[in-house]
Parts: sequence; structure tokens; C-alpha cells
Amino acid sequence: MSNDKFHDQKIDRTWLQIDPGAARHNVTVVRRHATASRIMAVVKANAYGHGAETIAAAIAAQVDAFAVATVAEGIALRQVQIELPIVVLSAFHSAAQINSLCHYQLTPVIHTAAQLAWLEDSELKPTSVWIKLNTGMNRLGFAADQVASAVARIEAIAGLQIAGLMSHLANADDLDDTITEQQINRFNALTADYAYPRSLANSAGVLAWPDTHLDWVRPGIMLYGASPILNKTAVELGLQAVMQLESKLIAVRTVAAGAAVGYGASWRCRNECRVGIVGIGYGDGYPRIVDDQTVAVIADQRCPVIGRVSMDSLALDLSGCTQATVGQRVILWGKSLPVEEVADCAATISYELLCRVTPRVSREIVADDNE
Ligand SMILES: *Cc1c(COP(=O)(O)O)cnc(C)c1O
Repeated sequence: MSNDKFHDQKIDRTWLQIDPGAARHNVTVVRRHATASRIMAVVKANAYGHGAETIAAAIAAQVDAFAVATVAEGIALRQVQIELPIVVLSAFHSAAQINSLCHYQLTPVIHTAAQLAWLEDSELKPTSVWIKLNTGMNRLGFAADQVASAVARIEAIAGLQIAGLMSHLANADDLDDTITEQQINRFNALTADYAYPRSLANSAGVLAWPDTHLDWVRPGIMLYGASPILNKTAVELGLQAVMQLESKLIAVRTVAAGAAVGYGASWRCRNECRVGIVGIGYGDGYPRIVDDQTVAVIADQRCPVIGRVSMDSLALDLSGCTQATVGQRVILWGKSLPVEEVADCAATISYELLCRVTPRVSREIVADDNE
């Protein structure tokens, strides 16, 4: 980040630890489940906030392709010498973007008639494209009655290969929802007449729905060590957290019985209590709204988050952690506190918390012997 000799990550109040070795371990979990499939590792949104360059470099030798959301994300990976196929899940949104795709040898996922027309009209053509089918998510993809003509139009473009046919699962994290079976059946029916490679599984598909594995799996969240399955922890699934969000106690105070802590005076001490102020807030990407079950970890002790989270700090009840002092390390999520647990307390999902850590937070890459 900064070359200033006075800038030292160790003196920052809040930082992320990224463990590339954990990502590599998580890829082996993908392999163990989907033994016959190729792996398209999803590194969109800066690898779910972990750093696309770091993660892509760490796992490139273990996977068969990368997937990103946008052309710009694909270009960024090419610029750091990633040579594997890079699939752009949303393809392109203007004719001009096709030239960038071609120049950087990115593989778009075509999902609308407008994209087909741009592709047909473009002077430059990519060497291959994926085609996306809608099987029930109703977000992106050709409807059942458009698939045959979309495939035929692509086949008619000289020199253009079809890398495969894909669809996306809407609710595979819920093992009781019958929509996944319906999507599998629809996908199989829509693709039965073609010999092209097929892809349906996200992380939940990899772990819980073997019928979705097919030729290519597209894991995202599980690579980062968070559970994609409702009511199953990452540890139960054999996954290791790649990101740990850490901060420090920047003040410790005694608050009198009945006194309030924080904006809005929304939390009051029942008895006199020790309160620790941690140097992280929503300006760093910690969620502003969390419920009264939320904790942070100090020296293996779970300390409740109390009062409202501010932009630059939050407060902890230190009653269970009497030895805590200023300067002490605080873990907001990571190996000892699953990000899914914090996400639950913030009425969101792990994906959102991982993605939205802000640039103010410095990054430290855990040393990694296997590189
Ligand atoms: C984000 C994404 C994935 C990965 O999903 P996870 O739930 O993170 O495994 C796979 N396929 C598509 C099309 C996606 O957009």
C-alpha cells in the first residue's frame, strides 16, 4: 500500500490477515467432493474481499479456470499474469467491451439476445463463450424456449467455440427446498441434445448436491472457508477460514451501573462494568447493525458487542475478560469466530461481510511455505 518507511502495518489499529494456505486447503475439499469435475474458482468482487491477485496466485496450480463478474475484474487478473481461462459471468454490456474481452482473452457468459447481436456484429470475436440458461433463478440466462436459437446463433459464428452451457442455483443452501431438484431436472432436459460441457454447481451444489457436479463446478464462498449450507458450520464441512479481521483495544473504561454506552444511549450497564473500546467500526466494514448475540474474541474469550457500532469504534463488555488491557488484539471474525456467525447477528450473509471490508483496513498475507 504505502512505501513510506514510517508506515508499518503492525501499528495499524485494524487489519486483515489473509491465509492463502487455507484457500489451498479449501480447494482440496472441492476436489474431494467433485472428483470428476473441473474447477472454475470464483474470484469475483476482489475474491470476495480477500484480494483477487493473492487468491488467484495461491490456487492457480490447483484449479482449471477462474470466474469473475466483470470485464475489469478479468483484465486485472490478466495484468498480474494469470494465464488460466478467465470466465466473465456477466459477459459484456456494450459492443465496445467485446474488444477488451478479446484483447485479454476473456471468456464471456452470454445470457441475453442483445449480447448475441453485439457478438454477431463485432469485428473481433472471442475464441469461446459460455451460454447461460435460466432454470428458475430468473436473474440471468436464456429462457427454455430461447435456448435452441441462442446455441444455433453462436454455432453459426465462424471460429467461435462454445465452452459450455451453464445455469445458476437459486437456493441450494437450503437442503429441504425442492427448487434445486427442479433446476437440475430442467437443466438436464434443456441440455440433453448437446454435447457441450455443462456447469451448474456453486459451493452449496459442490457440497450437498452431487447431481449438480457435471463437467465444471463453480465454487466461490467455500474457497474462502465460509459455510454455504444453512445450519452447517464451516468446521463441520472441513473448511478453513481464509480471512481474519483483527483490531485492538484502544481504550478500557469502567462504566457505572445504569450508565449508557455509545450513540443513542441504546445500551446501559446493569451493574458497574468494564467496557473495552475497539478500533474498528462501520467505516472499516464492520456492520453497523448487530444484535445482542454478537461477540468479538479476546484471548479466546467471547466478549459481547454492546451499544451501537460507530464509524471508527465499537464497544465490548469485558466482564468475562477481566485481564484485557489497551493494545490487546481483538478478533472480529476468522478462525476462532466464524464470519457466518457474525453475519447472522447482522441479518446478512457471510458473503456481504467478506466483500465489504473497506480499504482503510490494511492487509497482511500469512506466510505460506507451499508457494
Ligand atoms: C457467485 C457465483 C458463483 C459462486 O457462488 P458461491 O455460492 O459463492 O459458491 C457461481 N456461479 C455464479 C454464476 C455466480 O454468480
